[in-house]
Amino acid sequence: MSLDRRLPMLGTLPFDAPDDRPREECGVFAVSGTDSAARLTFLGLYALQHRGQESAGIVSMDRELGAQSHKGMGLVSEVFDEEVISRLTGDTALGHVRYSTAGPSALRNAQPVLVNYRHGDLALAHNGNLTNACELREELSAQGAIFQTDSDTEVVIHLIARSRDENEIDRVMGALRSITGAFSLVLEAGDTLYAARDSRGFRPLVLGRRGDAAVVSSETCALDIIGADFVRDIEPGEVLKIRHGVVEAVGRLEPATPAPCMFELVYFSRPDSTVWGLSVDAARREFGRQLAREHPVDGDCVFSVPDSSNSAALGYAEESGIPLELALIRNHYVGRTFIHPTQAGRDFKVRVKYNPVAEVIAGKRLIVVDDSLVRGTTSRGLVRMLRDTGAREIHFRVASPPIRFPCYYGVDMPTREELIGATHSIDEIREHLGVDSIGYLSLEGMAGAVEDSGPFCDACWTGSYQAPLVDLELGHEPASFSY
Ligand code: AMP
Repeated sequence: MSLDRRLPMLGTLPFDAPDDRPREECGVFAVSGTDSAARLTFLGLYALQHRGQESAGIVSMDRELGAQSHKGMGLVSEVFDEEVISRLTGDTALGHVRYSTAGPSALRNAQPVLVNYRHGDLALAHNGNLTNACELREELSAQGAIFQTDSDTEVVIHLIARSRDENEIDRVMGALRSITGAFSLVLEAGDTLYAARDSRGFRPLVLGRRGDAAVVSSETCALDIIGADFVRDIEPGEVLKIRHGVVEAVGRLEPATPAPCMFELVYFSRPDSTVWGLSVDAARREFGRQLAREHPVDGDCVFSVPDSSNSAALGYAEESGIPLELALIRNHYVGRTFIHPTQAGRDFKVRVKYNPVAEVIAGKRLIVVDDSLVRGTTSRGLVRMLRDTGAREIHFRVASPPIRFPCYYGVDMPTREELIGATHSIDEIREHLGVDSIGYLSLEGMAGAVEDSGPFCDACWTGSYQAPLVDLELGHEPASFSY
């Protein structure tokens, strides 16, 4: 997350379409034990692109040449090419995709963070948000530490570098024990990898194997792309050491009740991944089925707001028996640097991304299924577009409960004031969107749909925060929701 309050605000982004607002959402991928480590990491990042589109980076470790690093702004396919990949030699590599803020200073925040300290090269890639990073940063700065990024991730590097422990594992464990909040991270200390999840396991991290090579990834879909087998989830609080493909459990953080993020299942992870032991696609379909049971309505067709609600819409259609249609076509090529013509209307940003299929919509009673409502701006624009296309009735269905609280653990949400679920009653939301009816999946219904798993972190719906919010309590303005 960005700790610098002076970074550009949303309004200064070149294209502030609703789905392109700043987020601090990341994906990590690492490989140990094969000479094609960087190439496989590149492919892994490609499959994790949905977790962050602002910057991408890989640090490989070459036994003779030391750390080889390449980072850049943009998509994985824009940052890396054959020439760059072939320079990233060594049998160990660590990669990261990130989305947070735009602006000229952003490259320095791209990960992996790489330093050289008295024990050698150290690189770190992190997914999640630390909740005591401001406090630690102040302490470290007071002791003379100089920070080169605005990222909370850098405090971990400083904690390791300043440790007096002679043993590397003790230095790593000491640093991990000092941080709170959400972290699924991979460290590269020379050609040794350390993979760790915080005690509550907010964000995913899995272990895979490809022949002699060990693989660590945010999601299983990235194992598939390189033909690696899923071995297991790295457990909450678990710290693994991986060297030349050999995996060893070396430590445990203080135990806590696990709180894996439910929003990974709702929106963030890819449907072809297995997250929290569940098929994301199956979980979303079940959310959709339960939504149909809780909020049935007569309609001519059901459709999704592609792509994040495809599986939920399928579930709603299956349960209700109402046909599923492809009523909205999404343009996948809308980049963040899209220049917004000044004369364009207020719904133009939505129109650039989605176009309605008129034949499916005109004169029909529509059931629109979305996975979540955040600010409500996308849906409002969509609804107007559907009305203009001749929809007879619009029934909006949301496959998760109203988001009422910001996330402090690694999913970017706006401030409470901007969350439509926090500021409006359900009926006011219906009116604001301009729909004939609205129905949200209940919290109980959502939990029931995945009842063999959990308990989950549901803080964005309930405000029940499991890991201490140290910085917030000290009066620091946490970054992930301050855009
Ligand atoms: P909004 O216009 O703010 O209500 O946007 C809602 C849409 O954004 C939903 O269709 C979600 O698929 C998507 N969404 C949900 N959470 C996030 C997030 N943290 N970052 C970006 N997009 C999101």
